[in-house]
Amino acid sequence: MASSSSFPTLSLPNGKIPQIAYGTGTAWYRGSNDTPFDQKLVDSILEAMNLGYTHLDCAEMYGTEKDVGVAIKQYLNETGKDRSSIFVTTKVYRTLNDIERALHDSLERLQLDYVDLYLIHAPFSMKNGQAGITLKEAWNKMEKFVDEKKVRNIGVSNFRVDDLKELFALTPKIKPCVNQIEYHPYVNAASKELLAYCRQNNILIESYSPLASIVHKKDGPIDAIVEALAVKYGKSHIHILLKWNMQKGHVIVTTSSKGDRLKSYLQAGDADWKLTDDEIKQIDDAGAKLHYRKFWTKEFDG
Ligand code: NDP
Repeated sequence: MASSSSFPTLSLPNGKIPQIAYGTGTAWYRGSNDTPFDQKLVDSILEAMNLGYTHLDCAEMYGTEKDVGVAIKQYLNETGKDRSSIFVTTKVYRTLNDIERALHDSLERLQLDYVDLYLIHAPFSMKNGQAGITLKEAWNKMEKFVDEKKVRNIGVSNFRVDDLKELFALTPKIKPCVNQIEYHPYVNAASKELLAYCRQNNILIESYSPLASIVHKKDGPIDAIVEALAVKYGKSHIHILLKWNMQKGHVIVTTSSKGDRLKSYLQAGDADWKLTDDEIKQIDDAGAKLHYRKFWTKEFDG
């Protein structure tokens, strides 16, 4: 089984990013930063870190940064490891209009001096003017955070091709290095242009909801090929889907409340098995027969 020392990493401008992240949104989402931390989440994060997860995904919006902060502190105390052994991502959206305060508060809740990756969670409120800040103003502040060493890398989430083009048209001093998007076989076909644009511009894809196509859309067109590959490789359907995503060079952002599932997910990172190009294409082709998106459907699909 993969361990923290062997788990795959990819390169970012400032450091390496582990290719699996433990997400603290979705099932763990609380939506408010005014609530006390949830011991169940702290225990789950600690369990994940002890299994080898070194990449934690948070957001101002999830209301879980305090929990992540408590878990990190305990983990570093207990293991004697230092801050550089973990990779922390957080995102800003609700308080984009006061982004300096937003980062300050996130760092305080996380009990950290810096985050490894800071993302603008979505472009939508800046597009319709509700954010109270323009993309140019927000991005300039993001760049300043890197100069001030409060943030190691900066990127975006849920940006479509036009949103990225708008950002690149600003000729940013620091380009976005990550776009965190929903990505699984049932959005693959619809994401073709976006993936190509990101590849051309050295933007790493982080795939959230990588399991949506089997967790939320059972009995779909990918099931037969995923089952056949699971039998061929002696793996689960989940492993096949995570591997499919990782072999495309993406970071996967997943989660579970169950330790045995967290342990099992890590097998997707093992180097002793991989899908062939033709098998990846067979999943692509089967996935193209159904379009299903769980998040931001109106914004992405109209
Ligand atoms: P996944 O698609 O990986 O789904 C994870 C969920 O699948 C868990 O809740 C788990 O439940 C369940 N699951 C796993 N295996 C099985 C199984 N065999 N049968 C049934 N259920 C199963 O990811 P999520 O959609 O949860 O998103 C992961 C993370 O991505 C979030 O926590 C967040 O950090 C990030 N995210 C970012 C967004 C953005 O806008 N930037 C939007 C959405 C997510 P269980 O606990 O029971 O194991």
